[in-house]
Amino acid sequence: MIEPRKWLPLSPLSTGLACKCPRCGKGSLFTGSLDVRDACSHCELDLTPHDTGDGATVFVVLILGALTVILAFWLETALEPPVWVHLLVWIPVISILSVVMLRPFKGILIGLHYKNLRHKYEPDNGD
Ligand SMILES: [Zn+2]
Repeated sequence: MIEPRKWLPLSPLSTGLACKCPRCGKGSLFTGSLDVRDACSHCELDLTPHDTGDGATVFVVLILGALTVILAFWLETALEPPVWVHLLVWIPVISILSVVMLRPFKGILIGLHYKNLRHKYEPDNGD
């Protein structure tokens, strides 16, 4: 009988920030911009139960919203610019940062989901 391979646990933070597979850390996690692969191209881990859907969006909205409000208040009190300056600064900042932050946050959530529930999907993997 062939023994199933044991995978060493990897940090969900490091694999998520790199957008790599939470089990092997080598295969890519996404096919497109935010579409999770069905399986890892390196270790063939089934990624469909670990797709977090829109879960990362909540964290990005909360973190980016709080950061933007704090910086907007600071800009208003420090320089007292007209309203159009706020629109000119914050609309591009929010748009760009929300797109940039979504992939790594989704990767981290998938890594955390895999780390905490892998015994459910891979009972032979130890732990
Ligand atoms: Zn993998």
